Amino acid sequence: MATISEDCIFCRIIQRQMPAKIIYEDDTTLAFEDIHPQAPVHFLVVPRKHLASLTETGAEEEALIGHLFAVSAKLARERGLDSGGYRTVINNGERAGQTVFHLHVHVMGGRMFHWPPG
Ligand code: AMP
Ligand code: ZN
Repeated sequence: MATISEDCIFCRIIQRQMPAKIIYEDDTTLAFEDIHPQAPVHFLVVPRKHLASLTETGAEEEALIGHLFAVSAKLARERGLDSGGYRTVINNGERAGQTVFHLHVHVMGGRMFHWPPG
């Protein structure tokens, strides 16, 4: 399960080789504050296992993907985002604007979001 990529910044955060404001962790998953928040609340939920994006996942990761969203919802609830609503985003690949190639769910709230996202 502990598949690590040496040159991945999120793997480095997971291994505590790089600082981050970690707000949650369990056996498979970590959540930390985004370093460049795009909303009053903006944190990232990531698997400990290095998977570049959703594209790299398969049947083996079904439970893990579900867990990433369950943790996202739990933390969003704890941060008081339930009543006003919040946005979860996974960018996959260059055309979606992915810049860190370690799968992560963005959880953003505390302001109005628009659609289409652009
Ligand atoms: P994406 O564009 O979907 O790949 O999102 C990558 C996110 O990671 C961006 O929102 C960055 O601000 C965030 N990020 C990059 N480096 C760090 C870091 N060292 N700690 C926390 N968040 C980071
Ligand atoms: Zn990684």
